[in-house]
Amino acid sequence: QAKEDGKGLFRFFTAEMNERTLQRLKIESELRTALRENQFELFYQPQVDVTTGHMVGVEALIRWNHPERGLVFPDAFISIAEECGLIAPIGAWVMTQAFETASRWYKREGNPLTMSINISPRQFIDESLVFTVSKLINSVGFPADRIVLEITEGHLMGSGHDTLAALRSLKLLGVRIAIDDFGTGYSSLAYLRHLPVDIIKIDRQFLNGAATNPIDANIVSAIIDLSHALNLEVLAEGIEHLSQMELLRLKGCDQAQGYLIGKPMALPDLLCWYQTFFKNDIGMK
Ligand code: C2E
Ligand code: MG
Ligand code: MG
Ligand code: MG
Repeated sequence: QAKEDGKGLFRFFTAEMNERTLQRLKIESELRTALRENQFELFYQPQVDVTTGHMVGVEALIRWNHPERGLVFPDAFISIAEECGLIAPIGAWVMTQAFETASRWYKREGNPLTMSINISPRQFIDESLVFTVSKLINSVGFPADRIVLEITEGHLMGSGHDTLAALRSLKLLGVRIAIDDFGTGYSSLAYLRHLPVDIIKIDRQFLNGAATNPIDANIVSAIIDLSHALNLEVLAEGIEHLSQMELLRLKGCDQAQGYLIGKPMALPDLLCWYQTFFKNDIGMK
């Protein structure tokens, strides 16, 4: 009887695995089409200075306008793109698009906007990354430090020499590096101290808990102090409530990002949003 059950279970897993493999193959071929037919779009989520409340930058977040499934979020396709080698062309598209937006912003508003771009671990070990960034930096009129490249803490910790070498070369170009989703990995103080990074982004799970759980609030506070002790800027992700913003103000966090401030938006919506909330600033800078 037990044997029979085991067999059934095995058959079930196999069927499920085949299903998953087929699904992946389908997405892979659709991703190629998406690149060819320009189905990707960058959304931009505002980041504000906690003290002044002014917008200081945006994070570029990729979306896929799928012809049948509508708007598809990155968690549904970025890891597949990494596995099948499509992250390089997708990453290059993201980079070009983000630089173009930053450049247009600079021409339109006269002040440079900090543009944060998520980079996959695969891209960091690809030699063309430094070349691509250097070419783009040379083609725009704003300072290189307005570009922030984000790498997650988990990926940074597991990374080898090539990634660190790439980070150092990128820093030489003048761009800044942020550690994304900080608090979810296992970085040691000794390690952090020697990393070529500029900004720490506190993962939103801690902000999520901070409103109700004093331990999470203490963790947020500790990461802010740690960042400052290391001479780094610190940004809190996932701000949804005013109480979280109050906590950040109290603890001296530099920047914040989250639905309370603004959701990720298509470029025309971001421009509208900016006009609505910061119209007094327009033309004054
Ligand atoms: P991330 O870099 O940590 O980006 C923040 C994510 O949190 C975004 O999800 C954003 O929409 C979401 N978020 C922001 N504020 C709030 C909030 O107040 N509450 C909640 N619940 N969520 C909030 P999104 O856009 O779905 O992106 C997910 C992840 O996909 C990103 O996490 C990033 O790791 C990856 N990703 C996005 N765009 C790109 C890209 O162009 N290239 C690569 N390699 N990865 C990307
Ligand atoms: Mg990010
Ligand atoms: Mg994050
Ligand atoms: Mg994330």
